Amino acid sequence: VKRSKSGKNTRIIAIINQKGGVGKSTTAVNLAAALSEMGRKTLLIDFDPQGNSTSGFGIEKEELDQCIYDALLHNTPASDLIIQTNSKRVFIVPATIQLAGAEIELVSTMARETRLKELIAPVKHEFDFILIDCPPSLGLLTINALAAADSVLIPIQCEYYALEGVTKLLESMKMVKGRINTNLTIYGVVLTMYDSRTSLANQVVEEVRSFFGAETFKTLIPRTVKLSEAPSYGLPITTYAPNNKGSKAYMSLAKEVIKRA
Ligand code: ADP
Repeated sequence: VKRSKSGKNTRIIAIINQKGGVGKSTTAVNLAAALSEMGRKTLLIDFDPQGNSTSGFGIEKEELDQCIYDALLHNTPASDLIIQTNSKRVFIVPATIQLAGAEIELVSTMARETRLKELIAPVKHEFDFILIDCPPSLGLLTINALAAADSVLIPIQCEYYALEGVTKLLESMKMVKGRINTNLTIYGVVLTMYDSRTSLANQVVEEVRSFFGAETFKTLIPRTVKLSEAPSYGLPITTYAPNNKGSKAYMSLAKEVIKRA
């Protein structure tokens, strides 16, 4: 893996929301691909035992003999786990279901909350962005992600109870900030699965914007079938359907993300 040419500081961003199905993996895969389209070298760390970011790039989980679990529990260096994806400047550290065991096994290890941070450190400077796709819980894996990241990107689905659980998430962030990672900030909040035809979606947008203010990205990620189909082809939307509104939205989000860096 060659050093990125841009020479900018690496941004480590945890994509987090303890609710499942809000668009974390979809955002991780497609934001990584969009950032790469804009010339940014990106490492995606799949930190969700479901491994949807891994399969989203067409990587066959059954064929992997190592994953992020081995780095966390067996000290395998991250450099041994990084795989080039089918998108030019996107690299991934994959996850398999094996990672599910880490939540419990980590408890008895030394420096259990900073394992991910330690394993990213030696490869960090090779990338412009490192995105961490977090699991849908606030357990030890998520604490590791919050300890390793400089900031969090929170996807919020335009659905009933959109903000439910957000207070809990902010409390966890505060706890990590106080004890392990004083510089942790919110990078941004992105609204996902937006359907402009429903008044509910528009209400949620209003609600989230009044709660998070300028932290909310202007880009709204639309609900579109192409975004849900792309993973079954193992492709990000920018390759699968580059002219689709979902692809344009993730490109627009990438632009905002780069601007905030
Ligand atoms: P999470 O990682 O938070 O569990 P996912 O990204 O896996 O959420 O999304 C949950 C489901 O919703 C998946 O089936 C995904 O394909 C679908 N999905 C996510 N974003 C969109 C979107 N913008 N439009 C249509 N379907 C979407």
